[in-house]
Amino acid sequence: MKFCPKCEVRLKQDSSDSFICQKCGYAEKGGKERKQVKGESSSTINVFDKNEKTPTLPVIKIDCEKCGNTEAVWWMLQTRSADEPTTQFYRCVKCSYTWRNYA
Ligand SMILES: [Zn+2]
Ligand SMILES: [Zn+2]
Repeated sequence: MKFCPKCEVRLKQDSSDSFICQKCGYAEKGGKERKQVKGESSSTINVFDKNEKTPTLPVIKIDCEKCGNTEAVWWMLQTRSADEPTTQFYRCVKCSYTWRNYA
């Protein structure tokens, strides 16, 4: 709630984001517009995250047991202990089914 600094009358909120004193005509800008801009920028970040999920990993010819597709991306992961061998993972480019190489 805002009050006019001149006549201390409660300001009436305009249809947009400004406040108007109906007695003397004093007008004050509200802070609503800034919040909207902030929300827009965060949604832009969400879109960027979606793009990052697109695999930029090397593709290998391998059969997917889920959908029968023959192309999958692969990457290596070192497990907890350094003594254990690195595990190779595959992810089908078609259905995103992920499995590991036990060989
Ligand atoms: Zn006023
Ligand atoms: Zn698949």
